[in-house]
Amino acid sequence: MRSVKICLSLLMLFLVAGAHATAQAKYLIPEKIERKTEAGEGGVLQWEAWPDVECPSCKGVGKSQCETCARLAKDHEGCPECQRKDKQKDIYLAPCRVCAGNGKIPDPLEVAPCAGCMGAGVLVCTVCGGGGKLKVGGAKRWSDCPACRGEAGFPCGACEGKRTMTSIDIKPNLKEADDPDKLAKALADIDKTLAKFEAFQPIGGTKARKAVKALGAAYSTGKKLHPGFKDMAKVSKDYMGKIFGGSNFQGHEKTEANTMGMLKSNAEYYLKHQRRMTELALKRAKANAELAEKK
Ligand SMILES: [Zn+2]
Ligand SMILES: [Zn+2]
Ligand SMILES: [Zn+2]
Ligand SMILES: [Zn+2]
Repeated sequence: MRSVKICLSLLMLFLVAGAHATAQAKYLIPEKIERKTEAGEGGVLQWEAWPDVECPSCKGVGKSQCETCARLAKDHEGCPECQRKDKQKDIYLAPCRVCAGNGKIPDPLEVAPCAGCMGAGVLVCTVCGGGGKLKVGGAKRWSDCPACRGEAGFPCGACEGKRTMTSIDIKPNLKEADDPDKLAKALADIDKTLAKFEAFQPIGGTKARKAVKALGAAYSTGKKLHPGFKDMAKVSKDYMGKIFGGSNFQGHEKTEANTMGMLKSNAEYYLKHQRRMTELALKRAKANAELAEKK
């Protein structure tokens, strides 16, 4: 009987060999994002107009080397992130993950990188690295990846391909919210969700399915913050279900843990970004409420 256990050490070699020294996307440090206010009529604090901040990652170009393609061999076809539509010299370009291809950072009170994909626009298959095909056990020919079956990537449930997400759901919106109580409650909800993600331990192998459940529970904790979290509770389960298709490969435990680790850190980034913006919004709302009391 033929063993179904496939040695993937060759694939690992090949993924590393295909890698360039790629510049990884540089995201803003959430805790340091500034959003200044100015005193308007009667001393009421208003947000200063958001300047057109050039994206520090792509230097305003709007595109950068595709991080998915950079990991793949040249003879791969297609790419779930950039579709290989834009090539400069030997490099495939994708819309910049940090600015979603705009070249400028949008107002952080309104928009943040997606909590699911962090700007890639898709959830890339981590078993094949987004190539959709593999050369297994020294084979010369490509065969379909057993996890994604050639799909290479899966739709991101949080942004549906938009690469960004709106700010947390609060009435009328985070930029105009002026009720300190509501903002304080939103801040507490963000902290609660963030704590769940921070406590979450990505584990591959025999405990992986239990970990996926815990990850889903962390997303569910944030479902009132943004519908994207509710969607990701389900999408993360489906996505990890696909990744488990690579469980015959050597090192699959690590792939599974890394994939969950990526989802965890993407969600944490969004939450920290929103924590910062909500904190600033609360500061402004409190100052304005005090001002109104004095009158
Ligand atoms: Zn950019
Ligand atoms: Zn690409
Ligand atoms: Zn997304
Ligand atoms: Zn795959």
